[in-house]
Amino acid sequence: MSHFDVAEVRSRFPILQQEVNGQPLVYLDNAATTQKPESVIEAIANYYRHDNANVHRGAHALSDRATEVFEGAREKVAQFIGAPSKDQILWTRGTTESINVVAASWGEQNLTAGDRVLVSAMEHHANIVPWQMIAQKRGANVEPIPVDADGAIDMAAFESLLDERVKMVAVGHVSNALGSVNPVAHIIELAHKAGAKVLIDAAQSIAHWPVNMVELGCDFYAFSAHKMFGPTGMGVLYGKRELLEAMQPYQGGGEMIESVSFAGTTYNQLPYKFEAGTPNIAGAVGLAAAVDFVQGLDRSAADRHEAELLHRARAELAAIGGYPLVGKAESAVAVLSFVSDFAHPQDIGMILDQQGIAVRTGNHCAQPIMDQFGIPGTVRASFSLYNTHDDVDRLIAGLKKAKMFLA
Ligand SMILES: *Cc1c(COP(=O)(O)O)cnc(C)c1O
Repeated sequence: MSHFDVAEVRSRFPILQQEVNGQPLVYLDNAATTQKPESVIEAIANYYRHDNANVHRGAHALSDRATEVFEGAREKVAQFIGAPSKDQILWTRGTTESINVVAASWGEQNLTAGDRVLVSAMEHHANIVPWQMIAQKRGANVEPIPVDADGAIDMAAFESLLDERVKMVAVGHVSNALGSVNPVAHIIELAHKAGAKVLIDAAQSIAHWPVNMVELGCDFYAFSAHKMFGPTGMGVLYGKRELLEAMQPYQGGGEMIESVSFAGTTYNQLPYKFEAGTPNIAGAVGLAAAVDFVQGLDRSAADRHEAELLHRARAELAAIGGYPLVGKAESAVAVLSFVSDFAHPQDIGMILDQQGIAVRTGNHCAQPIMDQFGIPGTVRASFSLYNTHDDVDRLIAGLKKAKMFLA
């Protein structure tokens, strides 16, 4: 078993080397966004220093260079997720926009009255609301796949929901609110057997495990750069070629066209058909650097490190008492979500912040699952690979202090 050098990895993240409220920062809001290593920050700065120009215009040397790094990033991401071709990698603003592209474009053409879209009850709002919007337009229905009291998908209930009216199953690989890891391979298999397409929201899982689109077999796959150590405002949508080919563009404008006239406009080929306007070139450069960072790690060693932190944090949280855990799925990563018997999550969050400990409080854009558990929200401490055992100690000490003040 290889050793994971957390101190070395941590030293590559300049933002973590600071004090907040007089104490060294403990950053435990990684499910909201991860911090950026020096290499990502440098890649973006260097792009603006040396190569910045608009892409695909072919007019001059800088434009050629910008196009080269931009399309090189697409190729790198295609390899990163095992996509058959870089034409199936569409740039978006993030997971949210990726799901909106599929809901608006695929949904418009493929959902009819009485059709059903299944999403798990613990989805992020980004994987619920776009489906509700298109369903309302098309007379289709969005229905939740039940989640049990531990925060795991009820697979028997899922199977019994499937019929020929189910056209889309959209589920997250990892829940941002609870950390539950969903059995996506099995979900894809069952959904396909029933004739449905599958979209995987990989926002929380993309940094964790290597994936291969061909082996996984999902129809669409969405993630954000900023949750895998890359920049904000940059995301990816992968789709099966025949589906993307058949879909109408999501937005109109420059770059997405082949030719424009008032008699009629024809659209560009994949992936440009879905990329109207000047794209986030620096974002693609930053994402490519983030892929390099992730691929340079021993990811299974990093995962074991995070699992150790989570395991210890769960045990020590239980030992304090008065902080019931929310979400106890057997298969879970990186997220410690809990409530308190004596205070509102926000009060706990404030006391932690005063001690330089960053956690998130609230419903984590997953209100339906909070409603199911009968709570307005949780305190969520989410770990990443640069978090240390010292961070867990500080969190636990902070929670003891909060209990002392508030209980
Ligand atoms: C963060 C997140 C999203 C939304 O991602 P954006 O980057 O805000 O578009 C969607 N689903 C899950 C599971 C997330 O964690």
